[in-house]
Amino acid sequence: MKDKTILIRAGYNNQECYGAMNPPIFQTTAYEFRDSEHAANLFDLSEVGPIYTRINNPTTEIFEKRICELERGEGAVATASGTAAIFYTFANVAEAGDNIIIAKQAYGGTLTLGAHTIRRFGIEARFFDIHNLEELESLIDDRTKLIFFEIIPNPAIEMGDIKKIAKIAKEHNILLCADNTVATPILCKPLKLGADIVVHSTSKYINGNGSAIGGVIVEGKSAFKKIKDNKRYYHFNEPDKSYHGLVYSELKGAIFTLRARLALLRDFGGAISPFNSWLNLQGLETLALRMKQHSKSALKIAKFLESHPKVLKVNYPGLKSNPSYKYAKKYLKKGRASGLLSFEVESREFAQKVAESTKIFSLVVNIGDSKSIITHPASTTHQQLSPQELIDAGVPGGLIRLSVGLEDVDDLIDDLNQALS
Ligand SMILES: *Cc1c(COP(=O)(O)O)cnc(C)c1O
Repeated sequence: MKDKTILIRAGYNNQECYGAMNPPIFQTTAYEFRDSEHAANLFDLSEVGPIYTRINNPTTEIFEKRICELERGEGAVATASGTAAIFYTFANVAEAGDNIIIAKQAYGGTLTLGAHTIRRFGIEARFFDIHNLEELESLIDDRTKLIFFEIIPNPAIEMGDIKKIAKIAKEHNILLCADNTVATPILCKPLKLGADIVVHSTSKYINGNGSAIGGVIVEGKSAFKKIKDNKRYYHFNEPDKSYHGLVYSELKGAIFTLRARLALLRDFGGAISPFNSWLNLQGLETLALRMKQHSKSALKIAKFLESHPKVLKVNYPGLKSNPSYKYAKKYLKKGRASGLLSFEVESREFAQKVAESTKIFSLVVNIGDSKSIITHPASTTHQQLSPQELIDAGVPGGLIRLSVGLEDVDDLIDDLNQALS
């Protein structure tokens, strides 16, 4: 099936639910077993079915199947947030003494998770510049368990060469995970470009209304191949004492997400609520239409800003003048570059004034909503940094970030024009 059909039809057979056209919300904690043999079969995986909503839920399963098909994956597991999806991806491969290599151009929460939180578990995060793949290669050693980067990095919005990153991961037989939150599976299919795992914060474009926090991990066919008989991933190739000696690699198919479900949702517990899965299903139905419009409006706004005398610089991969343009053309569907852009004005004070003067754009630190959003990173998300640190982080005081929503684009341009005056 093609994307637009998958978004609306995949993973749901309404005849299993009284013909209900909209998938029901299975708002239940647990599921009664037919008898003790049925229970035993579910626990030893000889039969599949829901046991307890922390591990699996029928509404969530529809959402997982839909995203999985959309990403052309083998398996998927949904989580309570994008952050949980990223943490579980790390925890699924690494233990004390191991390291994970992360692109510097990443979401703030991913950077703090790497630099501070997993460090306390004895796992080291090493950071590379997405434009410097020699640096990436120099950081790899025997204890490297994962390479992690964002397709369109939030908030840096500078793309890297995805296929070259994938080539390095392949040469070293290391799993590669791409955070596809900003591009979404409509604009980019990282598994086809050489990633083995994809994660999303579904709280952004996939939900699309800003109504639910959620995340998902998807694995491609190549994950199994990289894990099987690879000493780096010995814990998938040896009996798991926590699951009566199960050897994951003796099973076929989606063993990365299976382990995330059986071991990590079991022990860490960050399960998505079935209601949030249902909200995400509503969002998915229009994802293709929305991503086309977000990209179209963002490009028009980027061009308007580029021609504005008070704007020093516009950062949008869809603009010909942008250094990421070549990657946007190569890796994003029809060069559509999603709804995230940033631009720089002369001073921190003026940027703050602009951010406060818009009437339609809301001053919020979120992205991917149908409602347009304006953020001044220097006074919000990056407030604790010094002027020099702000420049090093690529967020000078005069930088403003926009998440272009679905309002009429001419109203949005008028709004920015008056705020810049
Ligand atoms: C928002 C975001 C996250 C974190 O997701 P939450 O759902 O907020 O936990 C991770 N990666 C990227 C690129 C994001 O934009």
